[in-house]
Amino acid sequence: MNKKITLKNLVEDPGCLAEYDPNAMDFNSANKYINKFLEPITKTQSVLLKNTLDRTLAEDLVSPINVPNYDNSAMDGFAFQVISTSTYNKLEIVDTILAGKVSNKIVQKNQAFQIMTGGKIPQGADTVIPIELVIKKENIIILKELPKKGANIRKIGEDVQQGQIVLKKGTHIRPAEVGLIASLGIEKILVYRKLKVAFFSTGDEIIKVGTPIKSGQVYDSNHYTIHSMLTRLNIDCVDLGVIPDDKKIIETTLLKASRETDAIITSGGVSVGQADYVKEILEKIGSVLFWKLSIKPGRPMAYGKINSTPYFGLPGNPVATMVTFYQLVQPALKNIMGGRNYSAPPLIKVKCSVAIIKKPGRLEFQRGILFNKEGEWKVKPVPLQGSAILSSMSQANCFIILDINSGSIKSGEVVEVQIMNGLI
Ligand code: AMP
Ligand code: MG
Repeated sequence: MNKKITLKNLVEDPGCLAEYDPNAMDFNSANKYINKFLEPITKTQSVLLKNTLDRTLAEDLVSPINVPNYDNSAMDGFAFQVISTSTYNKLEIVDTILAGKVSNKIVQKNQAFQIMTGGKIPQGADTVIPIELVIKKENIIILKELPKKGANIRKIGEDVQQGQIVLKKGTHIRPAEVGLIASLGIEKILVYRKLKVAFFSTGDEIIKVGTPIKSGQVYDSNHYTIHSMLTRLNIDCVDLGVIPDDKKIIETTLLKASRETDAIITSGGVSVGQADYVKEILEKIGSVLFWKLSIKPGRPMAYGKINSTPYFGLPGNPVATMVTFYQLVQPALKNIMGGRNYSAPPLIKVKCSVAIIKKPGRLEFQRGILFNKEGEWKVKPVPLQGSAILSSMSQANCFIILDINSGSIKSGEVVEVQIMNGLI
């Protein structure tokens, strides 16, 4: 019997999937199941192009024009007919074409028109020779070499053709896409509405930044990292502050958030401490798919749904909060945004300059520093790898990703790294 796998029946009948173990879900299964049960938003809005950076395109974008929309010169030089140079390598300059100006004269066999980059190729010409490749004497040029027919001409429609689908629905709009759409003359586009994500921190020891600290208290740094990571994704944040370790308050806050937002993120309260209630509450008011992962840092992480709103219960340790956000929450949020085409940044293989001690059994995201030594890129882990050492995230520029089955790494061994800062 082929039972349809839904979040609900997976939770009720874990045996329906061999790989499902809520107590030690492996990273790939966790990612797969988080994304399998997501419903991308469908609501769209028409937005002025200049305000669409980091939004998701909600339509296939068809070009109304050819780009470029006329044959034009790629160089400052001279437009002429190649054929004419077999008999004449001397050409007479009879006109000058600046970009934006059109000549209505026709280029004859022994003639050349001086032309600037972007200038429209005059009728009769089939080639442009750059100014550096001619000797100019008054109104005569001598070609130092003969370019190939068609050289240095940007043909009509060579970038984009009229009627072509230029960008597909689901495309993440980056600066290049904004420019590309502008090159088509389109002023407004259809994008998915922005995501709204609620987040709060839990813990009786957690206090707000800006208040004096007593011994035994911890400033709420997760709040700031989560807010910043969400802001980078162009998501509207619903900041629910710090919630004490109180079952009733956590429960009411989660229920309220589930009705008003597209996703909920909390930090803390998912491990096995006496005041860690999140799993229990989630079982009561929603469904919980897993609460432990076989990754490091980030073992205590819960995922489930409350009123069909995805819920991410991130571990309280600040590094674990960030790692689980980047590796599991961010892909999911990008998919809900309408993309469903998110792929994680590529892994690059480099030599590790020092030994790393590791036991098989968990996938590790060590914080690493990628550095260049004598022309070769190498990586080393930051010295302190504890999941509470937030400065390690600040020092690092990459994750060293060590497979679940891998043991210790020898100095000089090749490892896979994921660069933290993408250029675009
Ligand atoms: P928990 O997951 O609640 O057991 O918390 C694990 C560790 O992370 C504890 O040492 C907490 O004090 C710390 N922690 C929890 N929440 C935060 C937060 N919002 N900011 C900084 N540290 C936190
Ligand atoms: Mg706690």
